[in-house]
Amino acid sequence: MERLIFHIDVNSAFLSWEAAKRVREGLPDLREIPSCIGGDPKSRRGIVTAKSIPAKKYGVTTGEPVAMAIRKCPELVCVPSDFTLYEKCSRAFKKICASYAPVMESFSIDEVFLDMTGTQLIYPDPVAVAYEIKDKIRDELGFTVNVGISVNKLLAKMASDFEKPDRVHTLFPSEVPEKMWPLPVRDLLFLGKASEQKLLQAGIKTIGEMARCREEEIQRLLGKKAGHQLYAYANGIDDSPVRGEREEAKGYSAETTVEDDIVTYEQAFSILLAQCDVVAARMRRDGKKCSCVAVTWRTLDFKTRSHQRKLDNPTDITEEIFSQVKTLLYECWKGQPLRLIGVALTDLSDEEYRQMSLFENTQSREKQKKVDEAVDDIRRRFGNSMITRASTLNSAGKVGRKAKAQMDNENMKA
Ligand SMILES: [Mg+2]
Repeated sequence: MERLIFHIDVNSAFLSWEAAKRVREGLPDLREIPSCIGGDPKSRRGIVTAKSIPAKKYGVTTGEPVAMAIRKCPELVCVPSDFTLYEKCSRAFKKICASYAPVMESFSIDEVFLDMTGTQLIYPDPVAVAYEIKDKIRDELGFTVNVGISVNKLLAKMASDFEKPDRVHTLFPSEVPEKMWPLPVRDLLFLGKASEQKLLQAGIKTIGEMARCREEEIQRLLGKKAGHQLYAYANGIDDSPVRGEREEAKGYSAETTVEDDIVTYEQAFSILLAQCDVVAARMRRDGKKCSCVAVTWRTLDFKTRSHQRKLDNPTDITEEIFSQVKTLLYECWKGQPLRLIGVALTDLSDEEYRQMSLFENTQSREKQKKVDEAVDDIRRRFGNSMITRASTLNSAGKVGRKAKAQMDNENMKA
């Protein structure tokens, strides 16, 4: 039986979510003015992580320093990241998506795959139900999505990336020659910059030209494994399943997908720190501690990997968790470009049981606990992440002075 797969992707998620929140508060819509997410508007430090369409017209690009963006567009409105808000919006978005599909896979904070195979009786017209989901999200939550429809995950995802925002696109196999093959090779999912260069040097400019090569030729250029996978993609072939949600969450986790690949420890740590901050706060709120910390990452070849460590003692201290996360990343990451990065805290326990270690500095531990309590308290009273974590940031250690300065600035003072 032919499958029916939807890919649903929030348009400029971080910016849209912040904009929707501000519209509800009666503030100007960030989507309609030159604006960006990232950095501290006062100090002008940090990196642009998302931008509005009006900002794009001024040449503002994702990944550039906020100071440079402001030079291009002096009236640019810069808003710091707010992962607590993003998680809330993500959950609301996925709840609506899940209500339409027998199987949903959370692909990232702002993307899901729905396996709609076998739903023809309830939804005879796939395009009509896609519009219904899209409009419901827009009307109820105040932000827009694109929906891509096809017979596999690859084509559905390629389709959702066509014209934005607030659109539904199909890319069925019969439409591949017309809609996908004329695109430049860089538009093929998971085809990185290095592969693009190799293909261009060999005179292969479009996905169609790539699809018409012999597979061995693509493998010779891109390597056996990557060549095999990308050649299949160019031909619209992908049989990977939509993986349903794991059973009831047994831990706390956060994942971030980036538009521009993560290639440095500085970039990775600034995201991981924000994630540790959020997940540890949620865990403390629930009165839990974790005994296992994991780092998750996805490389350009579609593969999600993770690396974890059991702790000698359960913890709920942000600084201890972030320090484990840094060690894990140093151990397993060799700097290959990353599209997604995340942390997960598992092996939860309620009771306070600690084996005292002779080498443990209990005094410093008490101090870290106090820092967390103070942070949580400020957050309870003033909301979101408008707070500095001096102790965590100072411990960024190996992150390097420049990145640390930037991270200090991205976390606004309480
Ligand atoms: Mg998106």
